[in-house]
Amino acid sequence: MRLEGKVALITGAASGIGRESAVLFAAEGASVVVADMDDKGGRQTVAEIEKAGGKAVFVRADVSQNADCRAMMEVAERTYGKLNVLFNNAGIMLGGDDDAVSTGEDVWERTMAVNVRGVFLGCKHGIPALRRAGGGSIINTASFVAVLGAATPQIAYTASKGAVLAMTRELAVIHARENIRVNALCPGPLKTELLMKFLNTEEKRQRRLVHIPMGRFGESKEMAKAALFLASDDSSYTTGATFLADGGITAAYVTPL
Ligand code: NAD
Repeated sequence: MRLEGKVALITGAASGIGRESAVLFAAEGASVVVADMDDKGGRQTVAEIEKAGGKAVFVRADVSQNADCRAMMEVAERTYGKLNVLFNNAGIMLGGDDDAVSTGEDVWERTMAVNVRGVFLGCKHGIPALRRAGGGSIINTASFVAVLGAATPQIAYTASKGAVLAMTRELAVIHARENIRVNALCPGPLKTELLMKFLNTEEKRQRRLVHIPMGRFGESKEMAKAALFLASDDSSYTTGATFLADGGITAAYVTPL
């Protein structure tokens, strides 16, 4: 088992990538702290893990709130004695997110609060816990839109994921000698509620699919496997990476620096 004896905290673990990662990490031996604003979904994730014989606890947390982020780390250390893996995965893409002209400031502010401040606060309170454990792995969920322009306008979301990627690189450099690795998981478009709600017509979905060399949307389970690699010692020499799991989009459209 690749996470035997480890303690992992995953935000946004009530659904999608976070839930699949929680289930997979637990199956690989981790004790998992399921953090989310969604009580019902979070408890379902815990129930699924326990049913399979794994260990998990739910904590209600809004990652945009400082006190909640502090409290979720306390739950990890109080319940399981330490923290080894921090997966800052919670993120939102709001319906009103469009081009710069049409997007409201409220949409911009809320997107930044969850997607950017949430990762910052996760690190602010998670890094001291990882230090106490002698090091660990941080995974921040960014997106392929952090490295190329999206064909469907979503200006606040795109800017927020660019910030997550830049933040990840700096964190990786600053904390490398503390045995803390920090990587950005950059999923391509996935068949999840988040994206399907946004690409809500067949025309919009097809416009996105045209750009994916694999010709299909990815699955949350596929992102969980990538996250497992970054969480485990299998990636022991990997830090500061823009870890793309994107069906080949960036290979088709992005020229490496
Ligand atoms: P999802 O909507 O299925 O899951 C997101 C989870 O985050 C939900 O359980 C939600 O309750 C939780 N959440 C939202 N705001 C929160 C907050 N303030 N505090 C705590 N929890 C909060 O979406 P997903 O596709 O699994 O997304 C996970 C991550 O992957 C996000 O950061 C998203 O931006 C990113 N991502 C998704 C795609 C995609 O195509 N779905 C592509 C690239 C990146």
